[in-house]
Amino acid sequence: MLFPLVRDIRSLSPENQDVTVRGWVRTKREMKNLIFVEVNDGSSLSGIQCVFDREKDGGGNDGAAGNTAETLAALGTGAAVEIRGRLVPSPAAGQDAEVAVSGITVPGSAPAESYPLQKKHHSLEFLRERAHLRARTNTFGAVARVRSGLAFAVHRFFRERGFQYMHTPIITSNDAEGAGSMFRVTTLDPLASAKPESGYGGDFFGRAAYLTVSGQLEAETYACALSRVYTFGPAFRAENSNTVRHLAEFWMIEPEMAFASLEDDMDLAEDFLKSLFTAALQDCAEDIAFFDKHFSGGDGRGNGAGKGIAETLEAAATSKFVRMTYTEAVRELEKSAGSFEYRPCWGRDLQSEHEKFLTEKIAGGPVIVTSYPREIKAFYMKMNDDEKTVRAMDVLVPRLGEIIGGSQREDDLQKLSRRMEELGMKKDSYWWYLDLRRYGSVPHSGFGLGFERLIQYVTGMINIRDVIPYPRAAGQAEF
Ligand code: ATP
Ligand code: MN
Repeated sequence: MLFPLVRDIRSLSPENQDVTVRGWVRTKREMKNLIFVEVNDGSSLSGIQCVFDREKDGGGNDGAAGNTAETLAALGTGAAVEIRGRLVPSPAAGQDAEVAVSGITVPGSAPAESYPLQKKHHSLEFLRERAHLRARTNTFGAVARVRSGLAFAVHRFFRERGFQYMHTPIITSNDAEGAGSMFRVTTLDPLASAKPESGYGGDFFGRAAYLTVSGQLEAETYACALSRVYTFGPAFRAENSNTVRHLAEFWMIEPEMAFASLEDDMDLAEDFLKSLFTAALQDCAEDIAFFDKHFSGGDGRGNGAGKGIAETLEAAATSKFVRMTYTEAVRELEKSAGSFEYRPCWGRDLQSEHEKFLTEKIAGGPVIVTSYPREIKAFYMKMNDDEKTVRAMDVLVPRLGEIIGGSQREDDLQKLSRRMEELGMKKDSYWWYLDLRRYGSVPHSGFGLGFERLIQYVTGMINIRDVIPYPRAAGQAEF
């Protein structure tokens, strides 16, 4: 049987039950004969207070050999402890119960001279350099629990709607986005002398291979067999942009539906986000309350919504997302052209400052932008009748900009082939993707949600490096 966690112990009624608390010491305070030890095991934001009374101690732990002085000396911040005692009503404010200690074991001490997490408040930058310990802080423990809670909510959402969870390959030979920012996968030693005449023949796969940027193309093949599928896996992009919204390795959720139009896709995206916001508020209430209190300050530089995280999520979960076309969005932006670094202009991609303006200033909440110019979108998106725009949709949110990118896919063989030729793509290597349009082709749609962007939005954390345990970015792959 698994032993009870601190969150389980905290939910017991304090009626003199015997308990054992296992965790790590957060703080220790001494007052005359009393020693207050705050212990947390990461099972919830709140730890539990354990009170040791020197007067009641018979000179030894649980009446065993008299090593109390030694044990108490080892009881510093960061030490791993097993504390036995009785759960009793607490006289202190803010907690119902505390543990009256009868015995303490310290499996691992944490010497105060060297343990890095002594102070109560370390900067996020300081903690990023110590990513192996930062989950022991309130903030990063809360991020980890929200990640876990929302990952579960993702699976629940799709399961309730008949979507099958599928695994797409991590190593691939196609570039789904045509963006070209891919990592090579090879067993060849780059330092050994190059033999260009052998091409990729001498490499492991006998062809050029990469880490996937998206599982979409493979997901499409399964959607055209199982009707509704989704992936939830890592994606890799050699982004050199070094922004607070991009990682080189991130997690993406990609649903794909057969017999579905762009409107169906937008409806699914909106329902999906709303259900995740609601799940955050309900399933992660204690952690969201923590972020609401400490991380509601807009962008941290005095700009931004000003509203609390919880209120923002509540509003986004219950009001209709504003929908507008790209052309309408550009027209809105042109009215305020003076306030941007990059002038808004039809045909150019929306900059992050434009996306923030649309969500924060125009809509005051999430916005779905549709029908982008085909030149700035991927080859697989279905062309509109105007032959200039495609059936794409991006969901934008305040503070972050794009959180979801999706589209209806081109299901017409001729149109798709022509587009690939125009873009100079090697059609041969996409023969299987084109087969979908040869055999039983059907309108289908899907989107990609960046899981870290979702966690950023829900927690209010500004830097994407703070919502994944071990961030990978240009020049950064420690741990
Ligand atoms: P952006 O314009 O913000 O770079 P994108 O248009 O390149 O994003 P898509 O190809 O549409 O991104 O990918 C779908 C989603 O995956 C995005 O909406 C975003 O939430 C997420 N995403 C894309 N690139 C990254 C990245 N480098 N790090 C983290 N999340 C990302
Ligand atoms: Mn996109």
